[in-house]
Amino acid sequence: MEKLETSNLKLGIISGGQLGKMLIQEASKWDIITYVMDNAEDCPARSVASHYQKGSNVDFDSVYEFGKMVDVLTFEIENVNVEALKKLKSEGVNILPDPGILELIQDKGLQKQFYESNGIPNSPFKLYDSEKAIVEDIEKGVLQYPLVQKLRKGGYDGRGVAVLTGPGDLGKLLPGASVVEEKIEIEKEISVIVARNKKGEIENYPAVEMLFDPTANLVDKLICPSSLTAEQSEKAIRFAGKIIELLDMEGLLAVEFFVDSKGEVIVNEMAPRPHNSGHHTIESVLTSQYEQHLRAILNLPLGSTKIKLPSVMVNILGAEGYEGPVVYEGLSESLAIEGVKIHLYGKKATRPYRKMGHVTVLSSSLESALEKAEKVKQLIKVKSWKKS
Ligand code: ADP
Repeated sequence: MEKLETSNLKLGIISGGQLGKMLIQEASKWDIITYVMDNAEDCPARSVASHYQKGSNVDFDSVYEFGKMVDVLTFEIENVNVEALKKLKSEGVNILPDPGILELIQDKGLQKQFYESNGIPNSPFKLYDSEKAIVEDIEKGVLQYPLVQKLRKGGYDGRGVAVLTGPGDLGKLLPGASVVEEKIEIEKEISVIVARNKKGEIENYPAVEMLFDPTANLVDKLICPSSLTAEQSEKAIRFAGKIIELLDMEGLLAVEFFVDSKGEVIVNEMAPRPHNSGHHTIESVLTSQYEQHLRAILNLPLGSTKIKLPSVMVNILGAEGYEGPVVYEGLSESLAIEGVKIHLYGKKATRPYRKMGHVTVLSSSLESALEKAEKVKQLIKVKSWKKS
C-alpha cells in the first residue's frame, strides 16, 4: 500500500450513515483521505469525511462518477447499484468487497442457494415469484405453517420479513419475489464477524449474542462474550470462515446465525460490511471492526480480535411519540457510570425507533455490564421538542 505510506490514499465510501462515520474515524487515524457519497446532505459521516459528494447509492451515474474519484471504493450498505460497480471494476477501479459478492448478498434467494450448494446449514426454503404461488403451495400442502416469507431484495432490519403462523396471517404476505423458509424455533441469535485480506489471512471476532426485549420483541442488548457452548461457538466461527473463503472475499463479513431448540447452529444471513453487531469492538476488542475492515481491504496484516473486557452494547433509539429536531436526555448521568461509552451518530432528526446512537458498556464481568447497560437504557432518551 504505497499510497497509504504517503498519506495520499483516497478511500471512497458509498453511503454516509453511522457505519460510514465510524469507518472514517478509523481511516483518519492513518491519514487516509476519505470521500463519502450520500443523498442526505446532513448524513452522519459528512462531519468527519474529507470530502462529501451528494448522490444516491442506487443511481448508476452517481455511483459511477463517485467511483472515478477514488483509489479504493467500499460501501457501508448493501443497497448499491451493482451495475455501476461492475462497470467501474471493468475500468480498473479497486472495489472491495467485490461487486459480485454484493450482488449475491443483495438477493436473499441467491444467498440461500449459496448456503445450500456449499453444505452450510440453513433453514429449508423454496423460492417464489409471487404471493399467489405461495398461497397455491399452502393450499396444496407443499408449504406448512409456521413459515417465514422474506422478500428477495430490499429488506432490512426485519422490514421485508413476514411470519405466518396460520391462515389468519395470509394477509401479511408481501408482494414480490421472495424466499419462504421453515420457521426455526430460535433459542439464540448470534453474529460472527470475520475478516479476510487479499493474502488470504482470516481473523474472526468472538460470537456476539443478541438479547431480545420479551415484550417489544426487539433486539435489546448485544453481549460479548456470548453464552454459546464452546462447540457452538467453534461451529459458528468455522462456518463464517468457510463462507468468507468460499466467497474469496476481501473485507469484513458479518454472518448472523440462529441457535435452534436442539442447539444446532444455522446460518440466517450475512452482510459484507461493518455491522451493528460489531460496534462494541471499538472499545472492547484490540482491533475494532472498522480498523479491521480497512486492514482487510488494503491488504494489511489483520489485527488481533482479543477481547479486552466483557461488553454490552445497546442501541440508542428515537423515543416513541417524538419526531423532529433531537433533544437527548440522560447523557451526563450515564457518563457518570464507569465503563460507559456513548456514541451519538449526529442524525439531525429523530423518529420512533430510529437508530440515533449506541452505548457500549465495559465491565470486568458481563453481569455488571448488563446491570449498567439496563441503567443506561432507562436514563438515555432521544426526544424532540416536536411531538409526533
Ligand atoms: P433482515 O435482513 O431484515 O434483518 P432477517 O432475515 O434477519 O431480516 O430476519 C429478521 C428476523 O426475523 C430475525 O432476526 C429473526 O428473529 C426472524 N427470522 C428470520 N428468519 C427466520 C426463520 N427462518 N425462523 C424463525 N425466525 C426467523
